[in-house]
Amino acid sequence: MLRSVILAAARSARVERLVETAPLSREVVRRFVAGTDTSDALRVTRELADAGLAVTLDNLGEDTVTPEQAQATREEYERLLAVLAEAQLTPMAEVSVKLSALGQRFDEKLAYDHARAICVAASAAGTTVTLDMEDHTTTDSTLETLTRLREEFPATGAVLQAYLRRTEDDCRALAVAGSRVRLCKGAYKEPETVAYQSPLDVDLAYVRCMNILMSGPGYPMLATHDPRLVAIGEDRAKWFERSADSFEFQMLYGVRDVEQRRLVEQGYLVRTYVPYGTEWYGYMMRRLAERPANVALFLRALTSR
Ligand code: FAD
Repeated sequence: MLRSVILAAARSARVERLVETAPLSREVVRRFVAGTDTSDALRVTRELADAGLAVTLDNLGEDTVTPEQAQATREEYERLLAVLAEAQLTPMAEVSVKLSALGQRFDEKLAYDHARAICVAASAAGTTVTLDMEDHTTTDSTLETLTRLREEFPATGAVLQAYLRRTEDDCRALAVAGSRVRLCKGAYKEPETVAYQSPLDVDLAYVRCMNILMSGPGYPMLATHDPRLVAIGEDRAKWFERSADSFEFQMLYGVRDVEQRRLVEQGYLVRTYVPYGTEWYGYMMRRLAERPANVALFLRALTSR
């Protein structure tokens, strides 16, 4: 019910205008989205860097349906990477890329070519790219693209979603030397056939996946705001005697800022995921609709630090 209402609102230009002009929603969006253009991304990256945080930047947009949109997304990432390098914010700032924003849904080869061009730009800027993971229909294609990109750019990061039943196997396959893997719970509404449905099952799967990654020779990136999972991550780091530069925590911009800084003070590497761009309305509404728990994530972030 809640999902249908949010999805209807996401499609309504009238609601979009209302939301975009309402002072409160601007406040809310500003809390979770860095701004609309490259200079906003740069400003927020600098602020976070000054606070000792690493950053991964996401140029918003995932409903790419034309080659022109895909090309524009690639060019924005190339511009961003050049600006970050110029401002000496690399390598602490890297980029996160959604293949769907590069045309994956209508032309996988085109998406690969654009992703490769972004990796070339990242490499020239002295930093890395992580491929975000989207719904389960794209997992195989995204992992295949990752494998190809890693032949040339071995530090390209993967994302694995603990809620998918296949993910423990994917963790085993990717827990190899030099392999950067972001582990998250998963943000999309997925069917029971492919994904655990109860929060407890997802948490247990997250811990099993974390054990595989943290005990292996790769570079795990633990993306969660869940205090219990963060504590287990800290515990596993000690148990497996991982040095501070052999793994990292990741959280979203605007969510649990105080916890992000606490972890930095404890000596951990923490990376903040910073979305920016003009397409914030669709991004936030879809995130909320895909998974009603995301409503709670944003509401909690507004009422707590
Ligand atoms: P939740 O299940 O949302 O919350 C668990 C517990 O954490 C809560 O009960 C509460 O105790 C605590 N908590 C959560 N939020 C707050 C808060 N604001 N304040 C206080 N306590 C809080 N998903 C994808 O599908 N693909 C991706 O590529 C992807 N990339 C991501 C990158 C990063 C850096 C992060 C952080 C998330 C990413 N996600 C991605 C989203 C992820 O899959 C989850 O949907 C999202 O992080 C919510 O799950 P959670 O682990 O944070 O915990």
